[in-house]
Amino acid sequence: MKHRYLIALGSNQRHARHGSPRQVLQAAVAALGSKVDAVSRVIDTAPLGPSRRRYANAAVVMRSKRDPERMLAKLKAIERKFGRRRGGMRWGPRVLDLDIILWDHGMWSTPGLNVPHISFRSRKFVLGPAAAIAPGWHDPVSGLSLAQLNARLTRSLT
Ligand code: AMP
Repeated sequence: MKHRYLIALGSNQRHARHGSPRQVLQAAVAALGSKVDAVSRVIDTAPLGPSRRRYANAAVVMRSKRDPERMLAKLKAIERKFGRRRGGMRWGPRVLDLDIILWDHGMWSTPGLNVPHISFRSRKFVLGPAAAIAPGWHDPVSGLSLAQLNARLTRSLT
């Protein structure tokens, strides 16, 4: 497989068949396929924005022959399969959210897609799980490893 990806997963809504957000993430990891090399534990996160539902968050490292554009198409197809409604409230309940955080070929920028993900450096619920499974992976923008980015964030007072 040509490429390595770091993918962030989030859910804050039950799914009729899969169950709790935590179980949704477990099913989503299975849907990502057999090329998953590492899976973080699932963390429980306070809601962002107006939603009162707590989030389950996790990260995976996986391999794929897809470029980021095709990878995003695959992630969106999985989100749709889990009943994610596009165009809903930005921070509202979502069954499944899948984001490309990093890939192993540096930066990628096309309309509607930026890798590294633009806001991952300030999100503990992304960096915590990501640093647990890929501490030595370097962000091509800041030059810092995930372990360093996570330490910087968890130490900051703001
Ligand atoms: P959201 O629903 O808030 O996660 O936003 C999803 C949209 O963000 C997608 O439809 C993409 O077009 C766009 N996007 C930009 N960069 C990324 C990325 N690295 N991973 C996933 N989605 C991205």
